[in-house]
Amino acid sequence: MYNIRMRSAQGGSHEKGGQHISGAERIVPEEDIFQAVSSLLKRSLTHSKGKADFINISLEEIKKEEIIYLSSLPITTLEVKDYLEGRKGAIQCLQAAGLSLRQAQAVLNLLVEAPSMRGAMLVDIHTLKRLEPDLQRGVRATGMDWAPEIYPQLHAYLEGEGLNNTHVREALALASKVARAPGIVAEVCWSDDPEYIAGYVASPTLGYVRLNHLKPAGVDKGGRIFCFDPSKANLQECLHWMEEQITIINEIGPYQGTFPLKNYFGEKEYGTNR
Ligand code: AMP
Repeated sequence: MYNIRMRSAQGGSHEKGGQHISGAERIVPEEDIFQAVSSLLKRSLTHSKGKADFINISLEEIKKEEIIYLSSLPITTLEVKDYLEGRKGAIQCLQAAGLSLRQAQAVLNLLVEAPSMRGAMLVDIHTLKRLEPDLQRGVRATGMDWAPEIYPQLHAYLEGEGLNNTHVREALALASKVARAPGIVAEVCWSDDPEYIAGYVASPTLGYVRLNHLKPAGVDKGGRIFCFDPSKANLQECLHWMEEQITIINEIGPYQGTFPLKNYFGEKEYGTNR
């Protein structure tokens, strides 16, 4: 297998201050390298954020023994009427994942105010301080993809729920890896793509909870936050899993249903300052 990584920017490389356009990766068998490279190239040249003028693509062989196989997180969809209700839902999801109301609100505020970054913020849920070694870049989860043999089943599964698009396929692979990282209790994300307004909260206990509206249309700044509980694991172990461990998803988790937000949390007691 080969790990292919792409990052692209406009106005020069990231290192020279260029604006990040897109980043993506694939893990594919040797015979699929050409196709994977050309689709990553096409993405950086035709992205809705603009056309990249710096593109970096790297290829690395992976040994079978380096791979850990995972199942994807179960998916739940919560329907909301606008992004404000979506953000209320995201706070409720973070609380359901174990954060207090104060912690959940602080995490969401950090995401709203986040600068444009290539990676995610890694936030200590107790101190609410950021822990990334490089605050400008953030932490990038890398080394994950779907097993090629599971693609037909994955497409059919997502198609059946109206979710078969690149955003969901890539985000679900990323979230399924991140939720298994030592010390990670939750993740929240919305996209940089100005046309893509959905987002999600994921956690080891909740699975992948998709909110159909989490940012206003037309906004080209998204963001991601990984919530870390230092009482559960060591930071270096967590970073190693995110950045070094190769994970491939070879089993698809169940679809848990689509619910209006108010029905999903209606009976549960969230919203108190625990
Ligand atoms: P996207 O959903 O690809 O539009 O990404 C939304 C945000 O998530 C970006 O602005 C980055 O801050 C962050 N991000 C994208 N890819 C990764 C990754 N592989 N690991 C960590 N954060 C990422």
